[in-house]
Amino acid sequence: LLESYYANRNFDVAIIKRLKSELVKQSGVLEVKDPEFGFADIGGYEVIKDFIRKYVINVLSRAEDARRFALPLPKGILLFGPPGTGKSLFANALATEIKLPFINLITENIYSKWFGESGQRMRNAILMAEKMSPAVVFVDEIDRFGRRTQGMGGSAESEERRVFSQFLEWLGRPDRQAIIVGTTNVPEHLDEAFLRTGRFDYKIPFLYPGAEARLDILLVHLGLKEGATKLRTPLTVPPEELITFLHREIVPRTRNFSGAELEELVTRAKRIAFDRGAAGLEPEDFLAAARTFRINHEERELLVERYLEQAKKFTDDQVFLDALRAEMDIDWEEI
Ligand code: ATP
Repeated sequence: LLESYYANRNFDVAIIKRLKSELVKQSGVLEVKDPEFGFADIGGYEVIKDFIRKYVINVLSRAEDARRFALPLPKGILLFGPPGTGKSLFANALATEIKLPFINLITENIYSKWFGESGQRMRNAILMAEKMSPAVVFVDEIDRFGRRTQGMGGSAESEERRVFSQFLEWLGRPDRQAIIVGTTNVPEHLDEAFLRTGRFDYKIPFLYPGAEARLDILLVHLGLKEGATKLRTPLTVPPEELITFLHREIVPRTRNFSGAELEELVTRAKRIAFDRGAAGLEPEDFLAAARTFRINHEERELLVERYLEQAKKFTDDQVFLDALRAEMDIDWEEI
């Protein structure tokens, strides 16, 4: 407050917000990020968006009604799946959609950098996060905490267990204000205690995008999707023509690609056009870019099966699981 007043002779909300973020950042364990994306910036994954809209966003935005129905407010979501499938992006977009601040818990700093002080660091992080809540607190690679003990022995192990218990206790606290969104690539490594009901309301699999989703993701990154924030990429053909081409030629060639790889494909296509000195991208650039990828389909399909097995363990919502499968099965049949 003083700094804002000193600089401007008034209490400027924008300045105070920035200073507060800087202060939090100095702690080394939390980082406040302005939510940059909404659901429109996420290509595909409509089943998950609908599910979250219905069970999380609507409930939180009508909290009073929810209380009348004695409906609990969702406070924990676990997103799991292969790398690059948009889990972090989704967490960020969720914060935007529910209009809450987005706080990143920097897990690696709690352990490696501040080893020995880990317990204190964790306590501070929880205290600060609660003070800034309601907010979405994002915990990437949450399995760092919830890992089954690997028998390191001695003080290292006890320190790790202590941080884990603190985190677990926070997750289970009935008066917790923070909405925790955790992600993991290895759900099978998570401790059972972590997964018991009440800690995470929903555990959602993020798998490789289906055909429709792949097209949508390409359009997001080309700036051709309505409502998305990316700038439109210059093209040498009309957008409709390119979209038809992508649908016919690129979508079938990108089976089992992650969202991150589809984004990379767009970047490579741009680079090819740029190197050629072209005024914009043309369809052939996408084919050339697609040829540069090597994807091990067998490995990825096995991985998806493993995640689906986990999903079955985590949720008994058959309607949701069937809808998710349908999105994927359509994809596999087509190829
Ligand atoms: P990791 O498990 O490695 O942390 P992740 O699942 O959290 O990966 P992100 O970091 O969210 O994946 O994805 C990386 C980038 O890929 C995103 O910032 C985004 O640009 C792009 N991306 C992934 N999925 C999508 C999607 N569905 N729509 C648009 N872009 C996507």
